[in-house]
Amino acid sequence: MTLEREVAAPVAEPDEAFRARLRQFFAAHHPGRAPKDPGERIAWTKAWLATLFDNGYAGPGWPREFGGMELPFARQVIYQEEFARARVPGPLGTGLNIAAPTIIKYALPEQKRRWLAPMLRGDTVWAQGYSEPEAGSDLPSLRTTARRDGDEYVVSGQKVWTSHAGDADFFFALVRTGTRASRQKGITYLVIDARAPGVQVRPLRDLTGGHLFAEVFFDDVRVPAANRIGEENDGWRLARTSLGHERAAGALNQAAMYRRVLTELEELLRERGELADPLVRDRLVDLEIRVQLIRYNAERTVGDILARGEAGAASSVSRLLITAFEQDIHEFAVDLLGPAGLLGKSAPQAVQRSRWLLGFLRTRASTIGAGTREIQLNTVAEQVLDLPHDPGMPPR
Ligand SMILES: Cc1cc2nc3c(=O)[nH]c(=O)nc-3n(C[C@H](O)[C@H](O)[C@H](O)COP(=O)(O)OP(=O)(O)OC[C@H]3O[C@@H](n4cnc5c(N)ncnc54)[C@H](O)[C@@H]3O)c2cc1C
Repeated sequence: MTLEREVAAPVAEPDEAFRARLRQFFAAHHPGRAPKDPGERIAWTKAWLATLFDNGYAGPGWPREFGGMELPFARQVIYQEEFARARVPGPLGTGLNIAAPTIIKYALPEQKRRWLAPMLRGDTVWAQGYSEPEAGSDLPSLRTTARRDGDEYVVSGQKVWTSHAGDADFFFALVRTGTRASRQKGITYLVIDARAPGVQVRPLRDLTGGHLFAEVFFDDVRVPAANRIGEENDGWRLARTSLGHERAAGALNQAAMYRRVLTELEELLRERGELADPLVRDRLVDLEIRVQLIRYNAERTVGDILARGEAGAASSVSRLLITAFEQDIHEFAVDLLGPAGLLGKSAPQAVQRSRWLLGFLRTRASTIGAGTREIQLNTVAEQVLDLPHDPGMPPR
């Protein structure tokens, strides 16, 4: 694969021309409706991601060196707005938003060459192996061990809630190389081949009936030491980079996506004659104000990344705003739709293929994944309001 393809970006192109060019590209190459079969859907998404990459329209914030667009901030906002508007599939797995910033910042040049472009093109899918049955919010207590043996590490233990594990080619994992008592000082960042002997993935069923996440077991899995990012026992520092980005990266895209979803809900309620009710209008105005706040805060977060290289505590504010919003908008929709809103998508009377019900069920988990609501509130309390540090958590 060559990264020296033409990235179509005339230097002095005005913002509105850039927007029009993006809109035209997404419309001309739109992959159409997603196939129902999960395997076909993965192949369909991969083909779309490759189209984006090959035409220079992947990775709006990524360095050009690794196949991205390296857009200035205002252009990233436009990109996310048009991406959400076009209703095209987003990245597969969690590598792009979480692992990639860490790889870009800390990996060796050879590792960057090996991993980044295939990840951006969708040729490889990455999943995050951090949480364990006994280590969620308190991640420094994780127990999956990695023992050094010559040029390899031997990994044993269990991860849980690993999103997209079933489709993954690689896990970016935190493993214990120090003693258990070493907590965050004995953690290493390893990239593990998901098909290596000794890896077992067991899907977990979620509230919607889908299998978004899985348990992952490692039984003496041999991992080349060349797959370690950063120094041994320095993984916690690296993980903190990626967690900040996880909260931030999705924010711009979600702000644009929920802008569209709110308009779609308004249209549905108009069709059903609900807008005459002042109480309904009152709720809609509240959601309208919040979706604007989500956008401004997302811009602030991306601004922090561009100015300081790290997402600040504003990313936790973003996460809190978005998760509360997405739970509330779906709850409001399901309430208003009444019994029809509770029908499964195969029922003839189902409203819009049950999208509001499925969204309602799916977003119950939003205040847990990527750090629970309570942990985000702790971060805001300590890092924005300067309140005392939680003694149960690792030092900042
Ligand atoms: C949809 C979804 C996708 C996920 N995807 C991934 C993934 O891809 N990879 C991955 O590694 N993990 C993933 N997770 C796991 C997620 O990161 C953890 O669930 C989360 O960190 C919480 O950990 P826990 O479930 O062990 O809960 P616990 O940490 O045990 O928390 C239990 C309760 O105690 C509260 N609590 C804990 N500590 C404190 C504290 N110090 N102060 C105040 N309250 C506290 C929590 O807020 C929570 O209400 C996913 C989770 C979900 C829901």
